[in-house]
Amino acid sequence: MKALVYHGPGQKAWEDVPDPVIQDPTDAIVKVETTTICGTDLHILKGDVPAVTDGRILGHEGVGVVTQVGPECTKVKVGDRVIISCISKCMACDFCLSGLTSHCRTLGGIGWIFGHLIDGTQAEYVRVPFADNGLIPLPEGVTAEQGAMLSDILPTGYEIGVLYGGVKEGDEVAVIGAGPVGLAAIMTAGPLGATKVIAVDGNEYRLEQALAFGATDTLKAGGGDPAAELKKLSRDGLGVDVAIEAVGIPETFELAVDSIRPGGRVANVGVHGKPVTFPIDRDWINNITITTGLVNATTAPDLLEKIKGGEIDPAKFVTHRFTFENILDAYETFANAAGEKALKVIIG
Ligand code: NAD
Ligand code: ZN
Repeated sequence: MKALVYHGPGQKAWEDVPDPVIQDPTDAIVKVETTTICGTDLHILKGDVPAVTDGRILGHEGVGVVTQVGPECTKVKVGDRVIISCISKCMACDFCLSGLTSHCRTLGGIGWIFGHLIDGTQAEYVRVPFADNGLIPLPEGVTAEQGAMLSDILPTGYEIGVLYGGVKEGDEVAVIGAGPVGLAAIMTAGPLGATKVIAVDGNEYRLEQALAFGATDTLKAGGGDPAAELKKLSRDGLGVDVAIEAVGIPETFELAVDSIRPGGRVANVGVHGKPVTFPIDRDWINNITITTGLVNATTAPDLLEKIKGGEIDPAKFVTHRFTFENILDAYETFANAAGEKALKVIIG
């Protein structure tokens, strides 16, 4: 089959590789119909993720059709059209049972992410370990493109942003960074009852998108005192209830901390390459909560219900479409997302 293979920092090729085979009795093989590219793939390609080594097939999002199942698969069947969750998990260890599937102990303390520790979905076929746990049937009426947004991007913004942030009826929420992750948080905060969702970004196109994804207000980053601006927009000028950080730089983490009201919450989703400062000496008195973590991707079934009920429509993420043969062009477009006005690029 053909697959997109990583060959060290900056090197990738769409090339012939052996077809995947069932290795464990709980595996399935899926023929990939639709896949997409995530910011994490770009980090891997830069060489920022040393665990990914030469020869790894990239990609961790997608929808496809099951072509083979191992003898211990009891739920998935050949012919099922499925969403491939980005994380493989045993669903038997204590972490999996408590919902921390990204720390699955059976898989060595980290859920196996496709295109990271196992071969990924930017390929004609992919092997899915623990297939009964990681494959979600794609219901009638939900498109493959909508489904592919449930592999990672939508659960990330929802779980680590909105749910960890404890967003509830009547809350005012700031989402700092309106890339795909921030937009996923914006899209899912409204249905939980947030009355105000303020998107903060330096990019005009992303701010326009934020409004289309459900933001009620926008704030252009870059200059001025954004924390003071956010406070001005909030109830009684005291700060927002929840600030979701979806960039991953010290400046935006600090903005998140500075823009919440007493009793507020910061949900940090961004992956930080550098330490951040947190003024605990100043803020201990404000009874605030800070959360962070790696996506568990356990909420895809709930999010599917919201799609079926018309509450959210992740098709809005799709800005560009490519064939598998043109996957290298898809990468170029996605890597130049700001210039190309790209959110998610679909390959399939
Ligand atoms: P992205 O780069 O597409 O989007 C980031 C956005 O932040 C852009 O729109 C950019 O214009 C904006 N931005 C940059 N500097 C800013 C500033 N100073 N103020 C306000 N906005 C600013 O990234 P993404 O794919 O949306 O991912 C966002 C973050 O989430 C990344 O750090 C990524 O690594 C992380 N992430 C975390 C998890 C997890 O499990 N926790 C999973 C996936 C991604
Ligand atoms: Zn486990």
